[in-house]
Amino acid sequence: MRGAVEKICARFNDDYWLKRDDDGEFPEEFYRALADAGWLGICIPESYGGSGLGVGEAAIMMQAITASGAGLSGASAVHMNIFGLNPVVVYGTEDQKRRMLPPVAAGREKACFAVTEPNAGLETAKLQTRAERRGDVYVVNGAKIWISTAQVADKMLILARTRPIEQVRKPTEGLSLFYTALDRRFVEVREIAKMGRKAVDSNQVFIDGLEVPVEDRIGEDGRGFEYILHGFNPERILVAAEAIGLGRAALLRATAYAKERVVFGRPIGQNQAIQHPLAECWMELEAAELMTLKAAWLYDRGEPCGPAANAAKYLAAEAGFKACQTAVMTHGGYGYAKEYHVERYLREILIPRIAPVTPQLILCFIAEKVLGLPKSY
Ligand SMILES: Cc1cc2nc3c(=O)[nH]c(=O)nc-3n(C[C@H](O)[C@H](O)[C@H](O)COP(=O)(O)OP(=O)(O)OC[C@H]3O[C@@H](n4cnc5c(N)ncnc54)[C@H](O)[C@@H]3O)c2cc1C
Repeated sequence: MRGAVEKICARFNDDYWLKRDDDGEFPEEFYRALADAGWLGICIPESYGGSGLGVGEAAIMMQAITASGAGLSGASAVHMNIFGLNPVVVYGTEDQKRRMLPPVAAGREKACFAVTEPNAGLETAKLQTRAERRGDVYVVNGAKIWISTAQVADKMLILARTRPIEQVRKPTEGLSLFYTALDRRFVEVREIAKMGRKAVDSNQVFIDGLEVPVEDRIGEDGRGFEYILHGFNPERILVAAEAIGLGRAALLRATAYAKERVVFGRPIGQNQAIQHPLAECWMELEAAELMTLKAAWLYDRGEPCGPAANAAKYLAAEAGFKACQTAVMTHGGYGYAKEYHVERYLREILIPRIAPVTPQLILCFIAEKVLGLPKSY
C-alpha cells in the first residue's frame, strides 16, 4: 500500500509543492491522481464505492503522502475525503450513505468540516451557530472559523445548536450534525491569510439563513456532539501519521545535507552536535509511529483508544516539529531559503501541533482521564 501511494506521490515533485505554496492554488492534479487510483475512499465501505479498509491503512497512506514531500499541502487536500464522513458511515441512514458517500469516495465532491467557532474555540459545546427547525428544513445562522477547504468544497459537515443551551442537561446535548450543500448564496467564505499550507485554504465562514433539508441531518436531533466525538480519535490518529511523515521528510533532507555540506574541511554531519539531534529525531519519530499504530490497531478492533489516539497525536506532532526545526538548523542559512524546502515543512508542521486539538488540551485529557486527576477546565 505504502509503495503504491508513494508511486503516485512521486509524480508530484518538490517543485510542484513549492509552487503550490507560492501561488496558493489547490493541488487539483494531485487530488485527481489519488481519486482516479481509488485512494480517496479508503475508509468508505465497499458497498458505497470505497475500499472498506481501516484507520491503520489510512494512517499508512497519509504518512506516505506527507513523507513524499507533499507535506500538509498534500495531506490536507484529501484529509476530509479519507475519514471526514465517518459520522455518515456510522450513523447515517441507508439513503444518506447512498447519496453522500460515493461522490466523496470518487473525488467528485469535496467537503469541509465546520466545527470551530470564533467565540467557542476548544470549548466546542459552547458553539453559537443555530439550526432552527421550520417544517422540513432547518434554517442555519452563525459563524465558523478556520474551516479548511471551504473555498473549494461542495458540501460541509456542520455542527450547530438545535436546542438552546439553557434547555439541555449538559452543554454537549442539543447539538446536531448535518452534511449538506455549501450553498454560497447563503454562505460567505472568507479566506484567512496564514503562515503555511497556502494551497489548502482555511476560512471564516458566515452562514445567513441557509436552509438544510431534514434529510441532511445525520443521526438524531441533539446528539451531534456524540457523533463527532466518535470521529475525533481516528482523526487524531491520521493527523499523527501526517506529522510523522512530514518529520521523516525533514529528517531525510537534513541527513542528506549533513553528509554533503563541508565546512572546516569535513562534512557537518561528522560533528556530534549535528548528529545527535538528528538521531534523537529519528528515535522520537519511531516511537511516535509505534504509538500511532497502536492507537489505529485499537480503533480498528473496536476497542477504546482515546488515551492512545491523543498520546499519538501529541507525540507525533512534537516529534515532527522537532524534526522540522532541526532540519532548518542543520541547513544553517540555507534552511531559511525556500528552495531547500525545510522552511516550508517547519511552517506546515505547526498545523498538526495546533489542530484539531492543542497539546495543552491533550495533556489535560491524559491528566484527567488516564491519571484520574481533577478536571482542570
Ligand atoms: C490551519 C488550520 C486549519 C484548521 N482547520 C479546521 C477545520 O477544517 N475545521 C474546523 O472546525 N477547525 C479547524 N481548525 C481549528 C482548530 O481545530 C482550532 O484552531 C483548535 O482546535 C484550537 O482552537 P482555538 O484556535 O479556538 O484555540 P482556543 O480555544 O482559543 O485556545 C487558545 C490557546 O489556549 C489554550 N487553552 C485554552 N483553554 C485551556 C485550558 N483550559 N488549559 C490549558 N490551555 C488552554 C489552548 O490550548 C490554546 O493554546 C483549523 C486550525 C488551523 C490553524
